[in-house]
Amino acid sequence: MHRTTVKVADGALDANQTIAEANRADFDRASVSVVNLMSAPGAGKTRLLERALERAEGNRVGVLEGDVRGSLDADRLSLLHVPVVQINTDPAFGGECHLDANMVRSAIPDLPLDEIDLLVIENVGNLVCPAEFRVGEHRRWMISSVAEGEDKPLKYPLMFRSCELVVVNKIDLLPHVDFSVERFLANLERVNPEAETILTSARTGEGIDAWRERLLGPAAAGRPAGASA
Ligand code: MG
Ligand code: ZN
Repeated sequence: MHRTTVKVADGALDANQTIAEANRADFDRASVSVVNLMSAPGAGKTRLLERALERAEGNRVGVLEGDVRGSLDADRLSLLHVPVVQINTDPAFGGECHLDANMVRSAIPDLPLDEIDLLVIENVGNLVCPAEFRVGEHRRWMISSVAEGEDKPLKYPLMFRSCELVVVNKIDLLPHVDFSVERFLANLERVNPEAETILTSARTGEGIDAWRERLLGPAAAGRPAGASA
């Protein structure tokens, strides 16, 4: 019985991988670079995207917004005049707590791939299963806020291991929480020694220029306001 269960799970992940590869081929054909942005609920994915995109002059960026329900985050990002497409997993996909390749595939016809160079997929807030499902992305990044605690890399190793960039957000809260950046980085090192890190506070703006530059590319940093690509 146990073996059968494992095979079913493997089969589902294999099917996901096949669809992820089809998505990736579509993104490559349109020359769109795709970031899968993941985190626990409330770590600041949407806020950090707002901070980056409010000065995205000349960068052609789109967002695919994954949520169980509602369009609160998509509505916020729409105010920045970037194309935003919402995927709700409830009810269309049984209220799943992650995006999978099929859900992203279902949204591709709605994405203006010819009008963007970068697509950010804001995954459903969750530190567990989003790490298991590739969706066709080129880069996997995550945000971990200091309010979540310094032990998280050890408790959710797959998520931390599967990302090449870990943004440590809400550092303005450091005086108020028992969180040692040094210990967090040591914990991260244990599960993913290759991971890059950026420390940010979306609230005060600390680290936001580095985050924006990482997201939008070095060209974005020195580009004068109002210039178009
Ligand atoms: Mg959000
Ligand atoms: Zn899930």
